[in-house]
Amino acid sequence: MKALGPIPVGYAAKDGELAIGGRTASALVKEAGDTPLFVYSRDLIRQHMADLRAAMPDRLNIHYAMKANPYGPLLEFIADLVDGLDIASAGELQQAREAGYTPREISFAGPGKRDRELFAAIRAGVTLNVESENEADRALQIGRDLKVAPRLAIRVNPSFELRGSGMKMGGGAKPFGVDTALVPALARKIVDAGANWRGFHIYSGSQALDADAIIESQGHVLDVAAELAGEAGVTVPHLNMGGGFGIPYFDKDTPLDIAAVGAALEQRLGDLPQILSETQFAIELGRYLVGEAGVYLTRIVDRKVSHDTTYLITDGGLHHQLAASGNFGTVVRRNYPVAIANRFDAEAQEVVNVVGCLCTPLDRLADAASLPRAEVGDLVAVFCAGAYGASASPATFLGQGPAQEMLV
Ligand SMILES: *Cc1c(COP(=O)(O)O)cnc(C)c1O
Repeated sequence: MKALGPIPVGYAAKDGELAIGGRTASALVKEAGDTPLFVYSRDLIRQHMADLRAAMPDRLNIHYAMKANPYGPLLEFIADLVDGLDIASAGELQQAREAGYTPREISFAGPGKRDRELFAAIRAGVTLNVESENEADRALQIGRDLKVAPRLAIRVNPSFELRGSGMKMGGGAKPFGVDTALVPALARKIVDAGANWRGFHIYSGSQALDADAIIESQGHVLDVAAELAGEAGVTVPHLNMGGGFGIPYFDKDTPLDIAAVGAALEQRLGDLPQILSETQFAIELGRYLVGEAGVYLTRIVDRKVSHDTTYLITDGGLHHQLAASGNFGTVVRRNYPVAIANRFDAEAQEVVNVVGCLCTPLDRLADAASLPRAEVGDLVAVFCAGAYGASASPATFLGQGPAQEMLV
């Protein structure tokens, strides 16, 4: 038997079934018309946001990194809860505009921004977190062509990385950001060119559950920002301090202590060097805001035994939930939290493998999981499906097509 990840707080049984937003899994599937289905809960997103606001300093803005989940209704809903939106392509810019975000609240990071993407962002008035001198030069030229001062910040490639981070994006050679040694000269160049200088973006990693690691990284971010600004002789109107707040996906993962992170940050922001005294600070979070608020529901289409191993074969799979299958940046596959949704309060009775419908051995949703006895027609719930699910999975693989999505 292999342990399942912990079911996130906030899910309960109703009439024996998993309920999301007060409605049973089978009622939600009925309304959607079919499985597989992603269901995202407004209540849980609101709750995570409220917990964060309570823990973080008032002075800190909270941005949503929309790559975690760009579903239109969710994007619209979260707009009223957050202070800004972080995007990574012109496609996301368009989705953000359609969801009602104003360009002022949007910042655009990402390596390999094409000229037409820079053009769209500058014309709209979005802040660009430039990732190289080449990109800064192109943005400045586009600004001159458009006769506007582009809003430019520098994304710094920090020399440290977030300890315990799921995906390392800082420290050493990286395609992201400008190496610290090159930052002061580039900052001067941007300011001297008459751009609307916005400051720095320093992102050092993701999916950390260790508060001390985040506290340490945030301390480094403040130190580096002050040092670079001092060297360049520029102000820091805005400092995007990155994010990296993780959620528990696997057995023995424990939730991040946001109270500890908030208290440490409060202290640091209360004792800032002069050069950062007027700075507006922000963190950017994806999975922490939406990951636990989403559930992927898929129906069992077959149940069979092969060499003494029972398989529950579902109509879903890695084409919607690549991360849960263990094929999205994990070294060792471990089980996400999984349940039989329409037998949510039943006792575990057997050990089974839950798999998807794709013709590849990679398509696993739970290995050797201890679950209530389930039959063809029952619903399997995969939790932690609110981030990096639908939009981060190869939906067209094997001609399957996308899952339905629903915000409740
Ligand atoms: C992906 C990404 C995020 C969001 O990461 P989460 O782990 O979902 O919080 C934030 N900032 C940048 C620059 C990213 O690339």
